[in-house]
Amino acid sequence: MSLEELNYQIYGCKKCRLWQGAKHGVPGEGPVDAEIMLVGQNPGVEEDEVGRPFVGRAGKYLTRVLAENGLKREDLFITNIVKHKTPKNRKPYADEIAACLPYLMEQINIIKPKKIVLMGVAARQTPRIKGIEYCEVIHPQAASRFPRMGKKFQEQVSMELKK
Ligand code: SF4
Repeated sequence: MSLEELNYQIYGCKKCRLWQGAKHGVPGEGPVDAEIMLVGQNPGVEEDEVGRPFVGRAGKYLTRVLAENGLKREDLFITNIVKHKTPKNRKPYADEIAACLPYLMEQINIIKPKKIVLMGVAARQTPRIKGIEYCEVIHPQAASRFPRMGKKFQEQVSMELKK
């Protein structure tokens, strides 16, 4: 399956309740041969508007911290553990993650990244695949709002991803 075919499935998906409150599915974006994949929690309102991941405040913050560490956002594949926004940006429920996880696993299967960065608690539920390096960092949304978490996030990105 290609990423485009998978995206098409996500746009039309009704496997959990989240599609009902969303304008767009947000499959993720980035090169099909990306070496690094970033996985967040769920799209927010701004992401839902345009169908792209991490375009709001947290996304701008993430893009800046990546750049400070020599990484171009467009070289990475960025997605979330669920592909539709959640009501009031709440954490996805376990049944929503379980329903959506096959899309993330197929993205990993297609892209075959060397490293996967799990951002935030929800993303840590991603099953680990042998041969891929995983690391866990604070979610950029929390990091962009709370200075102490921001400092920790910057240290984590620098340690795990700096070029
Ligand atoms: S969140 Fe995932 S499983 Fe739920 S409707 Fe959207 S694409 Fe389907």
